[in-house]
Amino acid sequence: MVDSQRLPVVETFHSLQGEGHHAGRSAFFIRLAGCTVGCPWCDTKHSWPSQGHPEHPIDALADAAQMAADAGASFVVITGGEPLHNDLQPLTQALDARCGLPLHLETSGVDPLSGRFDWITLSPKRHQPPRQELLQACHELKVVVHGAEDISFAAAMASQCGDDTERLLQPGWESSIGEDLAVDHVRRHAQWRLSLQSHKWLGIR
Ligand code: SF4
Repeated sequence: MVDSQRLPVVETFHSLQGEGHHAGRSAFFIRLAGCTVGCPWCDTKHSWPSQGHPEHPIDALADAAQMAADAGASFVVITGGEPLHNDLQPLTQALDARCGLPLHLETSGVDPLSGRFDWITLSPKRHQPPRQELLQACHELKVVVHGAEDISFAAAMASQCGDDTERLLQPGWESSIGEDLAVDHVRRHAQWRLSLQSHKWLGIR
């Protein structure tokens, strides 16, 4: 039986958010283990197995978030892996009770939404499209671009999001084709913005 009071964790760290609407802000990251989505370009493949990573008590994660808040973090990012492979309700409850920072989620949207979040980043994948509830709940839609088919996919995803959802195209890392396509699309479509992985440019986590 799964212990909802413990979660498999790849790492926790305090850094700057590198991508998306909140890029450049101080944040505490909780990277949960486990992902079955299997993106070929994934830069966190070490997070795919849920086994083999230490299981952390959610109270300890909340304590670590509180320490990061004391050290300047302005929000908590729950990422992965695919964090929604887990029931996130106990963790977000513990974080709300212990540290009170805004809670952000980064997800591919393949699982039901669980937990309470102030900001949801949906990064959908063509080979495993997201659930409708995530398309409608997300605050930002961030599509990684490697080829022209990703631009079409981004438009199809955006058509199912709310009007207020921020629309972001993010070139795949070291994909010159993705860069050209994303820049060109954003230049010609005012409702889209470019997202860059600034942490990778800076060489920080
Ligand atoms: S969903 Fe995220 S963690 Fe999972 S394979 Fe794709 S990029 Fe990697």
